[in-house]
Formats: sequence, C-alpha cells, structure tokens
Amino acid sequence: MSQHLDEPTQISAGSANPECAYQHEDVERYYQANLEIENNRHHIEEAREQVAELEHSEAVELFKKQVGLLQKRLANDPQFFQQTFITEGTNAIAWEFQQDELGETFLHTLWGLMLRNDDMSTLLLRFLWNIPLKFKRKFVRAIDQHLSERYPMFKGLSEGWPGLNNIPPYIRPPHERADDFDLVNQGYMGYMGLGYSFREVELFVWLEVLRDKQCDDRPCELGLPKMDGGENEGGCPVKIHIPEMIHLMGEGKFKQAFQLIKEANPLPNVTGRVCPQEIQCQGVCTHNKRPIEIGQLEWYLPQSEKVLNATANFEIRDFVNPWSKADKPPIAVVGSGPAGMINAYLLSKEGYPVTIFEAFHELGGVLRYGIPEFRLPNELIDDVVMKVTRMGGKFVTNFIVGKTATLEALKRAGFWKVFIGTGAGLPRFMNIPGEHMNGILSANEFLTRVNLMKAHQEEYETPLPETKGKQVIVIGGGNTAMDAARTARRLGGKVTIVYRRTQDEMPARVEELHHALEEDIKLKVLRSPREFIGNDKNHFVTHALLDVMELGEPDASGRRRPLATGETEDIPVDLVIMALGNASNPIVKDAEPGLKTSKWGTIEIKSGSQETSIEDVYTGGDANRGGSTAIKAAGDGQAAAREIAGEIPFSRGEIKSLVASAERYTEQGQAPKKILEKIELAEGIVEFVVYAPLIAKSARAGQFVRVLGWDKGELIPLTLADWDAEQGTIDLVIQSLGSSSMKINQMEVGDVISGIAGPLGLPSQLHPYENGETVVFTAGGVGLPPVYPIMREHLRRGNHVTLISGFRTRDLMFWAEPDQRIGLLQAEFPELLDVIYTTNDGSFGIDGFVTGPLEEMLKNMKAGTGRTVGEVVTIGPPLMMRAVSDLTKPYGVKTVASLNSIMVDATGMCGACMVPVTIDGKMVRKHACIDGPELDAHLIDWDKFLPRFLQFRKQEDENKSRHGFG
Ligand code: FAD
Repeated sequence: MSQHLDEPTQISAGSANPECAYQHEDVERYYQANLEIENNRHHIEEAREQVAELEHSEAVELFKKQVGLLQKRLANDPQFFQQTFITEGTNAIAWEFQQDELGETFLHTLWGLMLRNDDMSTLLLRFLWNIPLKFKRKFVRAIDQHLSERYPMFKGLSEGWPGLNNIPPYIRPPHERADDFDLVNQGYMGYMGLGYSFREVELFVWLEVLRDKQCDDRPCELGLPKMDGGENEGGCPVKIHIPEMIHLMGEGKFKQAFQLIKEANPLPNVTGRVCPQEIQCQGVCTHNKRPIEIGQLEWYLPQSEKVLNATANFEIRDFVNPWSKADKPPIAVVGSGPAGMINAYLLSKEGYPVTIFEAFHELGGVLRYGIPEFRLPNELIDDVVMKVTRMGGKFVTNFIVGKTATLEALKRAGFWKVFIGTGAGLPRFMNIPGEHMNGILSANEFLTRVNLMKAHQEEYETPLPETKGKQVIVIGGGNTAMDAARTARRLGGKVTIVYRRTQDEMPARVEELHHALEEDIKLKVLRSPREFIGNDKNHFVTHALLDVMELGEPDASGRRRPLATGETEDIPVDLVIMALGNASNPIVKDAEPGLKTSKWGTIEIKSGSQETSIEDVYTGGDANRGGSTAIKAAGDGQAAAREIAGEIPFSRGEIKSLVASAERYTEQGQAPKKILEKIELAEGIVEFVVYAPLIAKSARAGQFVRVLGWDKGELIPLTLADWDAEQGTIDLVIQSLGSSSMKINQMEVGDVISGIAGPLGLPSQLHPYENGETVVFTAGGVGLPPVYPIMREHLRRGNHVTLISGFRTRDLMFWAEPDQRIGLLQAEFPELLDVIYTTNDGSFGIDGFVTGPLEEMLKNMKAGTGRTVGEVVTIGPPLMMRAVSDLTKPYGVKTVASLNSIMVDATGMCGACMVPVTIDGKMVRKHACIDGPELDAHLIDWDKFLPRFLQFRKQEDENKSRHGFG
C-alpha cells in the first residue's frame, strides 16, 4: 500500500492501459536503461546500446505515445487526474483502516504524507477528520504505538482518548520558569522550541481538534441553558463560532479557521491566553473531564500565522486612511484596554477617523500594566496597537479624560461620539489597623512598578520594594493575586497567598493557581488579615495578624461566606501585596455631572445598548461592569462600535471640518513636550517652560502634573508653577533632590520630556474672605512655585494674602526681585499682598523657620492686635507642613497642606500616595492624587504619614550612585 501512495504516477500510468501488460518487460528495460544514463552510472555504454535497440520497438513506441497522450490530458484536465489519485489513495487508506490495527509501515507512510503539508496531506487530514470515531481511535492507537519514540507526547495518548486524554500545550517546567519573566504556557507552538517542525506542531494541534464531537447544541459557543431561564451557563461571551473553527481546523484549513475567528474577535492571541476558559467555552465542553483546549486553539491560529509571516496580520489591502478620506465624523475612544482597542479597531475599519486617548504613557490597559509578560507578552499588545495604527487609528498618551479635557471638550474639538473604556482601576484596601505602613502596597502598584515601569531592570529608574529573600504575602484569590504572587516569586520573594475562603472558591483562572502552586508559592486559606504590625523605628511592616475563618452560608455571589472564628494567627512578613479587586476610578464621573453611575461608581448604560446617560457617549468593559474579564470588555467594545456606526447626521462639508478640527486637536495632544526655556533659579533649582498646549488649556491653581523625564525614568508628580494657555506652555520648577530630578535638571532647551500628563488632582478651593481676613501661605523652598498660582488666584478674587516664604539660605532664594514673579505680584496688588521672607541661617529676612512669623500672626490674631487669619495653606517639606499644622491646630484656623507624596500613576490607580487621615476618630485612607493634593492638614495623621516618604530611601540612594550623583 505504501508503494501506492509513494509512487502514484507510475501506478496510474501503468494501470491506465492494461493492454500494455505483455509489453511491460521491454518498457521496463528501456526505462531502466534511461535511468542508468541519466544517473551516469557505470554501464553507461551498455545502457546507451540498449536504449538504441529498444527505442523503435513497438512496445516503447506505444509507451511513448501513451505518455504523450497522458501529458496532454494532464494539461487539459488536471482535475481528472487529481481525482483519480484521490480515489485510489483514499480507497487504499480506507482498506487499511478496515484491518484490525494500522500497520507500522502504513502508519509511518501516512504520517510522512501528513507532514508534507501539501494538498495530499490536507486531504488526509480531511479524511481522518471525517471518519467515524472508532477509526479515529484506531489511528490514535497506531500513533501511540508506532510513533511515540519520535513523539513522546503520543505515549499513552490512546488510553481514554478522546474524552480523557490529549496532547497538552507545552508548559515550561516550574524549575525552569519560576525565576524569569518568559512565557510560561507556550501553547502548542512551544513544541517548536523542543525541535519539532512547524508542520509537526500543526499536527499536534490537529490531533487536539480530532477529539471534537461537533456537538449539535454548540455548548462551547452558546453555553448551556439554565433551568431558571436565566443567562446561559458558560459559552463564549463574544460568540466565536467555535464548532466551525474546529471543523475547519479538523479539515486542515487553518487559514480559514483564523479568518473565521478574527471576524468575531480581533484579539484572539490575547483572549485565547487570558480568558477564564474553564468557566466559559471549556467549562461546558462535553468532554467534561478533559475539555478540548479551545483557548489554546484560539491563540494558536494567530500565533502560527505570525510565525509564518511576521507582517501578515498587519497587511491591509485597498486601505484608505479614514482621516484623509474624511467622509465619516471622528470618534474619540477613552482608554486603550481591550474595550477601547477593539472599539477603535472596528470603527477605523469602518472608515471612521478614531483617536484613542490614554492616561498612561503606554498602551494596552491592564493587559500591559497588570498582566505580567510570563502570561501575556507585551509584543502581542504591540501587535494590536500596530493593527489599529495601520487602520488609521491615532493615539494620544498621557491624556486623562476628566482632567486634560472633559467629554464636552472632546466633542467641541470635533469628535462626534465618544466611547469610554476607562476600566476599573481603583484598588481596594481593607482599612484595617497598620495598613498604612511601609511595605504594604496594592497589587496594582506592585505590578505597575514591574510590568509598566520595569522597576526590576537595572537600567530603569522606578524603585521596587525589596523582595529578594523576603517574606511576601499576597492577600486575595483572583487573577490579580496570582499575578502579583508569581511576580514576587520571580523577584526572589518567599511568597504565600492568603485567602479568606478555600481553594475551591478562588476566582482565579484554575491554570494560574495551578502554576503558582507549582512554582512553590504557598497557599494559606481560611485566613484574613486583621491587623498589620510594624517596626516602630522605620514603620515597615513586620507581622500580619490573621483571623482564622470558616465558611458559613452562601452569600450573594453564591459562594459560602467566610466568617471569623475568633482565633488568630500571627505570621512574619516583610512585604504585603493587597489584591482585593478594583473599584471604579472616579475621575471621569467626577468631571461629568450628567453621567449616571451606579452605587459602585460604574458607568450605567441604557438597557440593550452601550450608550450612557449622555447622548453620543458610550461605554463598556470594566468601566461599566466593574472588574470583569478581557473578553467581556472586548465584547462590549465591539457592541458599542456597532451602535456608534449609526446614521450620520452631517453634510460632507460638516464632516470635513469636524475631521480637520479633531485632527488638529489630536496633533496638539501628540505634540512632543519640548523644553522651550530653562532658567537656573538657584543652585540645584531649575525652572522649565515646556510646550504642553492641552495641559496649559485646562490647568487650574493647585493642580500638578505627572512627569516621565526619559523613557526609562520614573513617574514623578510636579506641581504646576504657572501656565500660559495662549502660548500652550506650562512652567515646572524642579529641585535636584533624587536621581530623577537631578537627571531632568540636566536637560536643556530643545530636549523633549518623555511624557507629561495632567493637570491632575483637584484645583484649590478658593473661599472669598470679605472681612479683611488674610490667607496665609507658608512656602518652604520649592514650595513657593506651587503656592504662587494659588496665591495669585486669591489676590485676583480680592482676598488679602500673606506670603511667608522660607529658604535655607539667601543663595537659594528666587522670584523675589521686583521684576520677578513675587515682586511683580507685590506691584500689582500692593494693598492685598504682604510678603515675609525667612531664612534658616538668617542670611535674609527673618532668622528661622516660616513657623516663626506665623506664630506671631496667630498670637496677634488671638490678642486682637493683628489680622484674622482666614486660612493657612502650607506647601513645602513634609516636616515643615507638619509643624505648621501643629501650630495652627490649637487656634482652630483652617489649614490646608498640599501633598506631593510618592506616586506612580497619579490618577488613583495604584494607591501609592496614600495619606492616613482621621475622621471621627477613625482612620480613613485618602489619596493625594485624587482627593488632593490639598487636604485638611489637621485631619492628616502625620505620625503615620511622614514615614511613608522614607519608603524608598534606600533604592533612591542606590539610583543616585548609579547615575554618579552619589
Ligand atoms: P482596562 O484594561 O482597565 O483599560 C482601561 C484603560 O483606560 C487603561 O489603559 C487606563 O489607563 C485608561 N484610563 C483610565 N482612566 C482614563 C481616563 N480618565 N482617561 C484616559 N484613559 C484612562 N481578565 C481576564 O479575562 N483574564 C485574566 O487572566 C485577567 N487577569 C488580570 C490580571 C490583573 C492583574 C488585572 C488587574 C486584571 C485581570 N483581568 C483578567 C481583568 C481584565 O484585564 C480586565 O477585565 C480588562 O482589562 C478590562 O478591560 P477595559 O478595556 O475595560 O479596561
């Protein structure tokens, strides 16, 4: 049989004319002699003679004629021949399959043909896909028996196949993977790393597909109906036609399968890796013991396409850029997570000019800053960005809707409709005693430091909490907890996950938990932190007191409620990562009074639609659902895109002008943040005038910006010293203290600051003081620049202001000359502005600290001999702010401190800028970036707050010496 398949031409040619049989010998001799000549063998002369002798024999003449005829027919009707081969081959194979078992030779030949990746091999795959299960089993038995030496993964495959056994994707062994950030689950493509060819891998995938039953009721796609008629259980949230996809793969049509899946889900390479398949498609698979690896098949398709042709996914035929075409009105997409990306991709594909506005300096949302690379390589997010870009989509990073611009401002800028895909980025905390301590941080902060800011890499600036060799506990049981735990493990931590229920109730993807445990991460279930205990000296956490829990009755989520038993357990800890889920970020909601939100802060949508309470504003993903999944976010983005692409109410001319305006606005947002002026104010203190037109347009007194000095720098908050909306510039004053500020201060005019986002925080609340009270500003050193615009605003509103500006020494003073900022204000408001200077060394003004003159004012006020102090605003070194707060408290004078604390994202997403505040005797967690930067100084628990500034002192010192500033 193997001869049939190996040499189909000879057999077909021979059997085409049975009358030739008696002349066979002559033809055979003639054929062999020609071979001798062709191959230049020893008896060449003899062969030539034989050819000459037989050349004109009847048999050879007839044979030649037939070959000629055959060639002609082959050229005219190739289909016929193909069919002949197919029928013959198939019959032969079918015959083999009738035998009790497939023979070794046959199997080897068959596998060899399947490996050829040609029409014949596709045909064989189709044949095997279509034969009844008992024959498939026979085939699998044969590869188990005869091929497992070459393919160890075939060994034992036939036991329980297809329901109980399969070839799993390649997962790097725990000892190899637990110390690096390379991909853990390498999928079927991972077998290529072990030396198997692309086609062999394709056949492994096909073998997985071969297990499929093509169920009539399609549970993997549609889910299973529930008895109570509620939403189906499981299934695919975006209704990928999974059975068809599998069918196409079963027939060897991998490209078509990829086309099919792309239509339903533009992110298969992402969702295939991160979807909780065990509760979706695979959770309802009728192979319930070992479901078909649908997730793996989903991402195999785009990944294999990428291996074959790295640019194939980005090739777009007949593409006309929607911005140049300008026949559809522009759309603004807010947030570049899966919801926003899909929305932008689909709308761009429909010909809409789209701009994505993203708060971070990098794109991808949680996929980039949350999910680590060992689970989802950043390269795949870059692919999505590339696809959107190729479709004409534009990106503006460092743009925070609700801060840089409101939704209304975006519409005014020319955007017809807006999609909000801002996610649910606000980390939850427990609000238990000791949670303010150093060494306790949110998973968002920890993961952002590592995934986005690359804090673990030497050449990056962002500090990383000490992890190596430390006792790390991660609180929570979801995907975030698993990612944080496995990241800490890779950074050398001894990690324990603490969860208040049992392993069965953990919401994490089963695979992630399984991998975490394999990587030697410990699990402490039925435990919940009650209190954190720390070191009195440096305020770093040292112990966690855990409540021992038990499970009670099910709660609203259907899971059994954890209840404290009254017992506790005390464990030593060095680092605590809180992974308790995320709530909605209030930035957009707070800026948009018309936007209806739920009691959890999620944006509400109209029934059966993705539209919000504001006309032409849509939403989806975590912004609407709360913490959910990537695929659901993608599904919402897709649904919203369908709705947005509705009837267009504009004329051609109107559309053109909207597009031109939105394009201008986008360009302004993308404009490099170039340094236009650099002024050395004093030693180590520099003022930069930077081009940032959209920030300048929205800036208000009291706000700050988040600055990324250079691409490997860290994100630091800097208060706005001034701005000019017309010139499109902002002023930043930076004192060289840490290595980041030192490096930025070395930049020159013409240099570009990598990223500036803002204006952030709440603007100052300015009260009118109409009875002659004075508003006192105590500014310590570079506290003066942020004080300046707030003070100016008070003066413009007619309030009396007393500025007490303190410096260490005269040489560090700035803006004090008559033609400089403070001098000019004095000239403009001579009646309203009193200025007092203090220096610590007495070299100028009053000898001492700002608290000296302040105390005198307060005493005079009390004695009725001086102005009433309406309020005090204090900005400067934390110790000075505390001293001012302590001083004013007994006088009952309202005191506001502007806090420039440790921040990462500065939009509420990380929780790093936590300020412990006491309200009604209870500690409440405030965040300087969203509740501040100005907070009531008398509510701040300074004893707890001040040590937070020392959290990364060691790392900062190391950074300084690394940059030669030590
Ligand atoms: P996001 O991905 O959160 O993206 C929102 C984007 O909007 C962000 O880039 C943000 O910076 C930006 N943004 C926010 N506010 C503004 C603003 N005002 N202006 C401009 N931009 C703004 N899901 C899974 O399915 N599988 C998993 O394995 C999984 N693992 C996870 C692991 C972690 C650590 C986390 C945190 C989540 C995980 N999830 C997982 C959940 C999943 O990532 C989210 O459900 C999904 O990313 C939500 O997508 P989204 O587009 O709605 O929002």
